Amino acid sequence: MLEVMKVTLSPRGVRRVLARHPWVWRSDVLELPEEAGIYPVGGKRGVLGWALVNPRSLISVRVFHFGDTKDPLGALWKNLERALAYRLEAYRADSDAGLRLAFAEADLLPGLVIDSYGRHLVVQAHAAAWEPLLEELTTRLQDALEPHSILARHDSPLRDKEGLPRYVRPLAGQPPARATVREGEVRYRVELLGGQKTGAFLDQRDNRLFLGREVAGRGYRRGLDVFSYQGLFALQVSPHLESVEVVDSSAAALAAARENAALNRAENLIFTEANAFDLLRQREKSGEKYDLVILDPPAFAAKKTDREKALKAYKEVNLRALKLLNRGGLLATASCSHHVSEADFYRMLAEAAADAHRLVRIGARRGQAWDHPLLLTVPETHYLKFALLEVLT
Ligand code: SAH
Repeated sequence: MLEVMKVTLSPRGVRRVLARHPWVWRSDVLELPEEAGIYPVGGKRGVLGWALVNPRSLISVRVFHFGDTKDPLGALWKNLERALAYRLEAYRADSDAGLRLAFAEADLLPGLVIDSYGRHLVVQAHAAAWEPLLEELTTRLQDALEPHSILARHDSPLRDKEGLPRYVRPLAGQPPARATVREGEVRYRVELLGGQKTGAFLDQRDNRLFLGREVAGRGYRRGLDVFSYQGLFALQVSPHLESVEVVDSSAAALAAARENAALNRAENLIFTEANAFDLLRQREKSGEKYDLVILDPPAFAAKKTDREKALKAYKEVNLRALKLLNRGGLLATASCSHHVSEADFYRMLAEAAADAHRLVRIGARRGQAWDHPLLLTVPETHYLKFALLEVLT
């Protein structure tokens, strides 16, 4: 099955792989095969690594093994074993957990995401070379994890960029339409067949649990969870507040949040379908005050060229949120755009605080949950920033 043709990289492509970045753009590849698959890559001379290669994708080369090997497929499966081993204790300890089992490039499994929702696995493979390997992947996941079911959620627009068809189909067992997951004391439902991403934003799990602990015992009254999706931040903090308003522009998201509130018998949630920008402006105008505001917007910068525009949008929502807070209140704020660096994010927050005329202490600087590891040489893997800001005056 393995082709032997070496994929030749330009000097810039070579430098990238030597610097341990797995991606090489099409413009840095001198010679590409016609078929997607697993190939050795390198400069004019030796082999520098093995990669999932797709001539139709802008990211034509995705290295999964640095250096040469006689058994590239074996090396790829070793990467899967390593990824599963990293999470195995948590997976075994909690059968209701929501857990990311494979985080693509960060686990040297390019384009492959595997999430577990109460042991129902959801797979997204966004690199063409995975397609013929799905059967073996399924067997390996079954052997290692004995999941209840495995579903391929291959309905993302990212598939188009790879020239792959979109489909959703079971790979093993009978995936239910919805699974129930536990996160600390909170239980929530995940739409396996049609939710955002693979069904939930697991990257914020540890931040949600953290915020719940931080808010406890402060005697806070009013909270506002903006860009709430299924209401998971709101549910973590609601036992410690009189009320939390949950805001999202998507009716489906709010319906899910309502259901999760009922599941947890959380009766102090208020649901508002609105555009966050309009809502924050209106609340500021009418002089509303809150003890806690949560901002977890979608990636405003999808491309590098959107960075400036995105920073403006981030600043606007953070500025307004800071103005809405009572003294001693908390702003929990995040950005998941990898084009916005950690330095950009904190600079933007400092500007927002200055413009809002508020003295703000940084209570915590955090990132993505532990099961979404970071590679030092791959900045794209450090995408989530999360700050807890305390308004002093
Ligand atoms: N906080 C959530 C994840 C939020 S994802 C969690 O912890 O699980 C971002 C959400 O923002 C999505 O649900 C999306 O529907 C919503 N959204 C996007 N643009 C919006 C806007 N302009 N106003 C309000 N909500 C928006």
